Amino acid sequence: MVVGIYQLVIGNYQLVVGIYQLVIDIYQLAVGNYQLVIGNDQGVIGIYQLVMGIYQLAVGIYQLVVGIYQLVIDIYQLVIEILQSVIEICQLAVEILQLAIGFLQLVIEFLHLAVEVFRLTFEVLHISIYFDILFIFRFVFGKIYSPCGISIARRKNIKPPEYDQFPIKSKMMLNAFSVDVEDYYQVGAFAGMISPKDWGLWESRVVANTRKILDILDSNPKPVSGTFFVLGWIAERFPDLVREIANRGHEIASHGFMHQLVYEMTEAEFRNDVRRTRLLLQEQSGQSVIGYRAPSFSIVKRTPWAHRILVEEGYCYDSSVFPIHHDLHGNADAPLEIHDITTESGMIREFPPAVVRRFGQNLPTGGGGYFRFFPYFVTAHWLRSINISGKPFVFYIHPWELDPKQPQIPKAPLKSRFRHYLNLHRTELRLKCLLNDFNFVPVRNILKLETS
Ligand SMILES: [Zn+2]
Repeated sequence: MVVGIYQLVIGNYQLVVGIYQLVIDIYQLAVGNYQLVIGNDQGVIGIYQLVMGIYQLAVGIYQLVVGIYQLVIDIYQLVIEILQSVIEICQLAVEILQLAIGFLQLVIEFLHLAVEVFRLTFEVLHISIYFDILFIFRFVFGKIYSPCGISIARRKNIKPPEYDQFPIKSKMMLNAFSVDVEDYYQVGAFAGMISPKDWGLWESRVVANTRKILDILDSNPKPVSGTFFVLGWIAERFPDLVREIANRGHEIASHGFMHQLVYEMTEAEFRNDVRRTRLLLQEQSGQSVIGYRAPSFSIVKRTPWAHRILVEEGYCYDSSVFPIHHDLHGNADAPLEIHDITTESGMIREFPPAVVRRFGQNLPTGGGGYFRFFPYFVTAHWLRSINISGKPFVFYIHPWELDPKQPQIPKAPLKSRFRHYLNLHRTELRLKCLLNDFNFVPVRNILKLETS
């Protein structure tokens, strides 16, 4: 029994132990579950924190994008403002420019007006002085003598006055008359606008205008012969013109071939230019060509070789050194009268275009633009003063100067237009007066250079 009880106790004890162990296991299971739950929670917390981190990153990126966007907006607004400022400045500049142009136009208008007043004043002086002279000569000599006399006589259709009876004229010396035969589009004033390769595109008027001069020379009460410095380019195109000039009793001389300025050529180019022209003109005219005149009087201090080359190429005289101050040519230190220039290859005679010494300055009065600029009585007075001092002068003119209807060169600068177009309509009458008032022969006659 005791054993049974013992065994029962033992059995109960083992049951209790078993229950205890079961409880312990359940506890451990609970603890394990708890730890599992805890672990899971930490995982969730980690994920949550990761998600939060990503979210904050996204927020940061978003703020950055928003910041960049605002920066771009700010830059854009700045650019817009700068552009608006630039536009305003441009508008202001345009307004200032328009104002300046308006002012310039006003100045030009004023200048035009001043020139007109100046010209009108000279013309009034011209007319009044000539009427006075007319009166004095009528009173003293009982003859009409003046350019106005010519025009009055023509207007009234009466016989022109007898110039040979003008008492001073018989005492006058011989001067040289010369023509630079070139066309209106070849002149130095337009050289920057018209290239020599385009010369052929312009209407040529040189033949008709040269004939006009030839006719005026022939129709003078005492026919005049002179020297025609012909441009080689013109001679090549119009050989009959050179022959006609020569046949009508005038001297043929050289004006170079392409109207290039001497100081813009090399020595070799210059030699070729003057040689080619001389050979062509000699062949066409049958004359020995001994005279040269540089385009735009361009033998200057910078071309000390020019005269030597002219001697070497067979020229005996030159008429290219203008003893004046000028923006394009001239040598104010050169002698005013005929002089010999000795070169390494021989001597050449220089006949400078007419210049008078007034107010401490050398004033050009030899022809061309100066002949058109100064009223005729001023030119005549100055030229006469050269003769009174015992020296002859050489006068020069261009065929286009007797052609007021020549085509106008578009877009030419004001200075070139002034030089070229001034008083073209007055040249013919002035020339006729000049031919009446002075005695003229070719240059070679004055220089006493006879050729074989
Ligand atoms: Zn010329």
